Amino acid sequence: MKAITVEPGNPGTVRYEDIPEPDEREGSILVEAIAAAVCGTDIEIAEGKYGWAPPGKTRLVLGHEALGRVIDPGPSSSFKKGDLVSGMVRRPDPVPCPNCAVGEYDMCRNGQYTERGIKEINGYMSERWRIEPEYAIKVDPSLGILGVLLEPTTVIIKALEQVIAAGQRSFWEPKTILITGAGPIGLLAAAVANLAGIEVHILARGKTGLKPDLVRALGATYHSGSILDIGFEPDVIVECTGVGSVIAESIQKIGAGGVICLTGVGTGGIAPRATADLAAAVVLKNNVVVGSVNANKRHWFKANDRLNRLDREWLSRLITRYEKPENSEQALGKNPDDIKVVIRFSEI
Ligand SMILES: [Zn+2]
Repeated sequence: MKAITVEPGNPGTVRYEDIPEPDEREGSILVEAIAAAVCGTDIEIAEGKYGWAPPGKTRLVLGHEALGRVIDPGPSSSFKKGDLVSGMVRRPDPVPCPNCAVGEYDMCRNGQYTERGIKEINGYMSERWRIEPEYAIKVDPSLGILGVLLEPTTVIIKALEQVIAAGQRSFWEPKTILITGAGPIGLLAAAVANLAGIEVHILARGKTGLKPDLVRALGATYHSGSILDIGFEPDVIVECTGVGSVIAESIQKIGAGGVICLTGVGTGGIAPRATADLAAAVVLKNNVVVGSVNANKRHWFKANDRLNRLDREWLSRLITRYEKPENSEQALGKNPDDIKVVIRFSEI
């Protein structure tokens, strides 16, 4: 079968190539790939900056945002042939650490977790893939291709859970949320937060175009420029850019008792403000700055519910490009106009 593979650590090694059929040890359910979405992590792996091949191998099958159709459910009684499914990404570490032991592998303590398409397990960008019943999740047929958006939605559900957990250390009724960044995570975060009835604001770079239109279509407010000029102090900030200056301004602008959730992963940058000044702002306003990555089964369950409640037409506008798998190299290139690039393996 064909698959999109890469040699982690080596840029320019993405290939659409023949590989053996998926190993039965990867799970009792056999799935035909419909589509896989590309995210920043895939691009980083393609650029040689991240990722690990399975033990003893040099190449990794990419892909962790998947939609497929069950061909053979195996002995599992909860799935049947034809079901649309997505697959969870992370697997618990083998020790396991206390968090993995209780099913919170998203909170793994020892870093020995594995991740499909990212860390030591093949991903979902192959014509067929296998999955364990406990890590497969049924996608509502009415979502169709939009089921590829389930994985990024799980990341948001976890981040918002972290915000609520941190906020509830005191009396707290958040009225406003600011999301920084209007990529797929930022836009989906806005849509999910909107379901909760909170006043939603997004700050991003462009002044016009699809991203501001999508924000306004939600009934949310779009800002460009500096956070310092948005005109209010948000109760919650979900930071999705990973840009140092945006993080620093978030800490400056958050309201008293407010929570900042960092979801963007960046590097370097020049510190625009002294660390102690930022810390003083956090102290004097009783703020929490919490980092959030990945998601566990509970978040997948909730994400499936929230995604189903979002407007299908709005969601479909997030997918700005369909690519054939043989065009994987260009699909994995950076293009600032793209929101979500989806690689389509078969018709739905
Ligand atoms: Zn662990």
